Amino acid sequence: MNELRVLVADDDASCRMVLRATVERLGHECRVAADGDEAWRLFEEEQPDVLITDWMMPGLDGPELCRRVRHHEADGYTYVILATALGEHENVLEGMEAGADDYLTKPISPFDVRARLVAAKRVTELHKELDRLHVELTAQARTDALTGLGNRLRLHEDLEAIHDRAVRYGHTYCVGICDLDDFKRFNDTYGHQAGDDALRKIGALLNHESRAGDSAYRYGGEEFLIVLAGQSLPQARAVLERIREAVEALAIPHRASRSGQAVTISVGVSAWEHEQLDTPAAVLARADRALYESKAAGRNRVTSGEPSGITPNVR
Ligand SMILES: [Mg+2]
Repeated sequence: MNELRVLVADDDASCRMVLRATVERLGHECRVAADGDEAWRLFEEEQPDVLITDWMMPGLDGPELCRRVRHHEADGYTYVILATALGEHENVLEGMEAGADDYLTKPISPFDVRARLVAAKRVTELHKELDRLHVELTAQARTDALTGLGNRLRLHEDLEAIHDRAVRYGHTYCVGICDLDDFKRFNDTYGHQAGDDALRKIGALLNHESRAGDSAYRYGGEEFLIVLAGQSLPQARAVLERIREAVEALAIPHRASRSGQAVTISVGVSAWEHEQLDTPAAVLARADRALYESKAAGRNRVTSGEPSGITPNVR
């Protein structure tokens, strides 16, 4: 079995010796501390899987050590076992309320240690699995299942971060909204399966065509969004123009389109304006209005959003 990393804290040298010998004989790794302060230092350094701690020690005592371990922000979980003298059952309850998972009665019996470490192993492994699932679910919750691009939740988190950096360092950024032209007509003509295929292809193209530093997201049904960090409006416009051409060059047939014979996108792009103290929502709203202008002007084109100083009603 995979060995556990165990930390033993006890001011009694013979207790430390017995515990260490038992733990090591069971194939686990063991560190020892002679008082609570040393135990805490070792805990912070090594974040052991298991802490076996005495109740009464110089420096931090057992319960205080338990409380610190529980309040420590850590990646993993440390299983805490309180070692206490026979007949001190009230200590056990107090210790468990302070965060201990289990207890051992002194004098230490190797059998008890072994049994406690079986439970400790199961619990720490469960916590590791939960941590892994948490990381996986966090990523999944931010990914669009169809295209594999970031979804709206990831967009909002990323955009906030990019915005904060732009404010702090005086950078700029642009946002481009890309909408498939006549997508309802496409689905009506070719079916939803073909619609999904088209979305997947265009998602892959956006992911590929956006430079390192830019990020593409699926914004809604047939809407994609690209955040172009550190780019001016003319630069962003050029990138999006290239992407618009690349989508057209995919030549996905679309006989019901009103802007040609293939699937095309209309794009609205806007820049964050430093001096206007824009919010990310205002930048998005401007890009959205520019997208609407692209649609109104005949689709399959890129339109830049008016600077907010000129457009009076920025929400
Ligand atoms: Mg003691």
